[in-house]
Amino acid sequence: MRRICRVFGNPIAQSKSPLIHSLFAKQFDLDLGYDKCADGITDIENAFTDFFKNEAAVGANITLPFKQRAFDFADTLSSHALRSGAVNTLFKKDGQLFGDNTDGRGLVWDFKRNGVTLKGAKVLLVGAGGAAKGCIPALFDAGISLLHISNRTTAKAKVIVDQLAANSDWNLSLFKDTETYDVIINATSLSLHGQIPSISTDILSAANVCYDMVYLDEPTAFLQHARKVGITTTIDGIGMLVGQAAESFKLWFDLSPDLTSVINTIKS
Ligand code: NDP
Repeated sequence: MRRICRVFGNPIAQSKSPLIHSLFAKQFDLDLGYDKCADGITDIENAFTDFFKNEAAVGANITLPFKQRAFDFADTLSSHALRSGAVNTLFKKDGQLFGDNTDGRGLVWDFKRNGVTLKGAKVLLVGAGGAAKGCIPALFDAGISLLHISNRTTAKAKVIVDQLAANSDWNLSLFKDTETYDVIINATSLSLHGQIPSISTDILSAANVCYDMVYLDEPTAFLQHARKVGITTTIDGIGMLVGQAAESFKLWFDLSPDLTSVINTIKS
C-alpha cells in the first residue's frame, strides 16, 4: 500500500525534505508519496486534520513557523518534544497523534559523523529560535558540560534558560564573556543573508569547532569567518538536516536509512 507523508511550513518552496525522504524510501523499495503543503498556508491545525484523515497518511514534518503549534496539536509528546517545547515530527500511533522533536538528535548525529566529541564540551549556542531551543535536550543527553545562549534579543534567550533550567540540572545560562567555549553553534538564520553573528574574535578563536545549522552550496559566511580566525573544524547544517529527517523516517517506518549516500546526493 502506498503511504503518504508531508512537510508543513511557510515558506515551504525551498524544502529539501521531499527529496531526502524519497531517497530514503528508495533504499527500501518503499512506496512513499512525500509532498509539501500548499504555499502560504496559515490555518495549520485544519491542514493537519485534513492530512491525517487520510488512511494512507503516516507522518508529517513541521518546520518554521509551525513547530510550536504542532506541539500544541499533538495528543502525546515525546520527552524530546516536552523538554524542547517544539515538535518537528508528527505521526499516528495507537490511534493518537504523537509529536516528537528530532532536530537535536540530527545535530548530535552530525557531530559524531564529523568526529566531534560532545562529552564534557562547553557549548555556546547562538540564537534563541525554534531550532536553538529544540537541540538543547539532545546536546545535554550527549554529555556536554555546559551550554550558554547568546541571542540578538536577549529576552528570548532568557525565556529558554528560565524554562529549561527550571526543570533540569543542566548547566544552562546566558552567554558570559568571561567563559571560553569548545563548540560554537550558530542557530540563527543570519547565514541565509550572508551575515555573521556578533561574537568577539577572542571567544570565536578559542573554540575548537564551529557549526552552522544553515546549509548553502558554498561555506556559509559564519564558517568562512571562523576559518579566517583559525578554526579548523567547521561544519554546516546538511548533516543535521539529513540526520533529523532520518530520525523521523525511523519513527514512521522503523527503518534506518544510510545517510552518507543521501548527503552526497544532495551535495552533488
Ligand atoms: P527562528 O526564526 O525561530 O529563529 C531565528 C534566529 O535567528 C533567532 O535567534 C533570531 O534572533 C536570529 N536572527 C534572525 N535575524 C537576525 C539578525 N539580523 N541578527 C541577529 N540575529 C538574527 O528560526 P529557527 O530557529 O527555526 O531556524 C534558525 C536557522 O536554523 C534557520 O536558518 C534554519 O534554516 C536553520 N535550521 C536548520 C536545520 C537543519 O536541519 N540543518 C533545522 C532547523 C533550522 P531574534 O530572536 O533576536 O529574532
